[in-house]
Amino acid sequence: MTESLPAAGGTSDPTSTSDALRSAVEAAFPATIADLTRLVKIPSVSWAAFDDAHVEASAEAVAELVRGLGVFDLVEIRRAAIGEGEGEGEGEDAPLGKPAVVARRAARNGRPTVLLYAHHDVQPPGEDSDWESAPFEPTLRGDRLYGRGAADDKAGVMAHIGAIRALTEVLGADFDLGIALFIEGEEESGSLSFANFLHENRELLEADAIVVADSGNWDLETPALTVALRGAVAFRMRVSTLGHASHSGMFGGAVPDAMLAAIQLLATLHDADGSVAVDGLTSADLETPAYDEAKLRAETGLLDGVTPIGRGEILSRIWAQPAITVTGIDAPTVANASNTLVPSVAVRVSARVAPGQRDVDALAAIRSHLEAHVPFGAKLEFDAVELGNPFLVDTSGWAVAESNAAMAEAWGKEPVEIGVGGSIPFIAELVAEFPAAQILVTGVEDPDSRAHSPNESLHLGVFQRALLSEALFLARLDARSEDS
Ligand SMILES: [Zn+2]
Repeated sequence: MTESLPAAGGTSDPTSTSDALRSAVEAAFPATIADLTRLVKIPSVSWAAFDDAHVEASAEAVAELVRGLGVFDLVEIRRAAIGEGEGEGEGEDAPLGKPAVVARRAARNGRPTVLLYAHHDVQPPGEDSDWESAPFEPTLRGDRLYGRGAADDKAGVMAHIGAIRALTEVLGADFDLGIALFIEGEEESGSLSFANFLHENRELLEADAIVVADSGNWDLETPALTVALRGAVAFRMRVSTLGHASHSGMFGGAVPDAMLAAIQLLATLHDADGSVAVDGLTSADLETPAYDEAKLRAETGLLDGVTPIGRGEILSRIWAQPAITVTGIDAPTVANASNTLVPSVAVRVSARVAPGQRDVDALAAIRSHLEAHVPFGAKLEFDAVELGNPFLVDTSGWAVAESNAAMAEAWGKEPVEIGVGGSIPFIAELVAEFPAAQILVTGVEDPDSRAHSPNESLHLGVFQRALLSEALFLARLDARSEDS
């Protein structure tokens, strides 16, 4: 296989390096899929109710693959404490986060260092009966590999490993590019030790550019760079109107029950067309690709005759505007619904924050709105707050330009800049710890990957193109001098 490739380290012709990388990725692809399959078989669910041993086994398996690359000065499995604290010096019995794999090789000759991020933990599989093939028995059907984590994000892990393998195959292990690797083990359970981990491993992870391989592509033929992510704010609100329950026939009509107060209050969060009606929540100004109502209807299962909500371009509503959803109400069930005035009701409110606004400011705006609109002087209490900042990429840096060029070359098509309605709060933490680094959010998913759902899958063509993009990107950075 090596005879068709240029001698290690011996090529300076960018075209031949590209061709050689393409051949190397292609030749190694079956082995890459075999490695991915082994990783997917490990049920590394990071949620508290699941066995930690699987996450440990998964970290071991990833570390083994990374050691096998032979290009790192250090490869280790590390954990950090969960919680506020400054990390070191915290109580020794502070609970630890899940195991992450870290690795680093130093840059030489003025080359940049790139940090490659992915996560090896997965979402719970849900009911086996909802899957066409067992979630942890990776199965190939057509062009897709099915299994929990086959896309999110074990394919992200393998994209990094496969790209470094191809680079080493073509340039030899003695290249100049600095690479740091961070394969997290708790992304799906809230990245609880993430901030401490970054802080404690700052020197290992510091880089000029960070590739977060945990997002998706526009479609099977079009690569994407994720440039906007909404933030998330969620909280529990208790609405109380009465000291105790009463017979609704005796007092109904004279005093408000908590359900009435909660329903009236929650109804003020949106206008008649379903747009968010909270003063102080801001929107971002983002250009969005075309996306029509028929597609929205098909992708969401919107029932015939039911209208979409919100204003403006559809993708702007999802990527650039705030959203508020009531995701749960603790109240008597219908089966237990006696004729009673309910004294107190708890509600879960989950909001998405547009890029450009801080999570704490969005939370403050929503709270002020609720306090200003509460009917009948009902009492409100707030707790169980969760926060996550949104993220907007500065696309003017050299890393974005190199990444776009690499994607265009690998896919034969220019990438589109996309937003994501969901949130990846750890990205804001990365920015906070490494404010000077350029952040690239890439990924191996496509619109049919169904991450987090039954029948999650990876499209092998998309995966190969994403892997080649990353290999080309690394080669471009390795050829970059300090002043270019
Ligand atoms: Zn993920």
